[in-house]
Amino acid sequence: MPDLGTDFRGTSHLVAKRQYTIVLPGRKQKTVSEEWHGIVAQAILKAMTIIKARMLGMCMGVSRAQELAVAAANTGRTKGKNVFSYGPLIHNPQAIAKLEAKGVGILDVKAFEAGNLDEAVMNSIVVIRAHGAPPAVFERLATLGAEVVDATCPRVLRSQKKASELAGAGYRLIIAGDSEHAEVAGILGHVPDAIVVQNAAEAREAAKALATQEGLKLVVIAQTTIQKAEYSAIIEEISQCADECVVLDTLCPAATERQAALVELARNVSAIIVVGGKNSANTQRLFLTAQETGKPCWHIETAAELPAEVFSFDRIGLTAGASTPDFMVDEVENFLRKGVSDGNAL
Ligand code: SF4
Repeated sequence: MPDLGTDFRGTSHLVAKRQYTIVLPGRKQKTVSEEWHGIVAQAILKAMTIIKARMLGMCMGVSRAQELAVAAANTGRTKGKNVFSYGPLIHNPQAIAKLEAKGVGILDVKAFEAGNLDEAVMNSIVVIRAHGAPPAVFERLATLGAEVVDATCPRVLRSQKKASELAGAGYRLIIAGDSEHAEVAGILGHVPDAIVVQNAAEAREAAKALATQEGLKLVVIAQTTIQKAEYSAIIEEISQCADECVVLDTLCPAATERQAALVELARNVSAIIVVGGKNSANTQRLFLTAQETGKPCWHIETAAELPAEVFSFDRIGLTAGASTPDFMVDEVENFLRKGVSDGNAL
């Protein structure tokens, strides 16, 4: 009898002593003995087709930051230095746990800003995450003797550079984004008098306050991950008050590409699995898109969360948010294909 491990029991139900009900493709149910459970289960797995979205999982910026952090951990081990990321590197608890196991701790940004962690940071290695950080943070880390590994995403770096250039040329900077987000804090560090607007209503208020200024030149920049519709609505409001308004296209296509690929995928499958951190905004949005397709769908972090019902569908679509590491997608795919979890490494 093929050995599927005890994990697979989650896809069937123990209904009596050594008796299992297995949910078959097409949602038919079959009660089998324990002996036959493994054999029938294997047949179900063979009948199931798994299709991955043509674009899924970790984006270039986060993937690069993760690689730099792993390299920093190796350097830290060699030099006998502590290694930290400046805030959580990835919005994904499993990836964070793997990094911590490799020796990358998380620096509490608020405690550092309050001056409470100077001693811990001295002579350590600090990795700046993909969102970037204000120049003052780089300077303070250097003053404390920390070795800085800059993993700011190249797209975010471009935004920071453009914002500085245009502010230097006399434009008032408007940042469309979340005022609490690290990427926005990083840009504000370059242009401290920039105005942050989080939505169209705030843009309207800002436009009213700015309307009295003669010869006003504005430049509008977006946090890379905000929604395109939200950015358009903000531009519509804010551009009314200026003589000149330059709009920069700084939106990152990583999220929209994954959403478009998911919509295509949905046409060819009977159910969808979205893999990624429950705390990841882009994975949550991807799951919303999955729900809008009308197909049965689930947002899970690990293979252990796969519901038994998944195995009643014959064509399963698999996608993952832009902060989901490959090992998590592989783990879910392997479980769906084999009924067992491999637990791959970073
Ligand atoms: S979402 Fe885009 S901007 Fe943000 S880290 Fe990823 S690639 Fe860079």
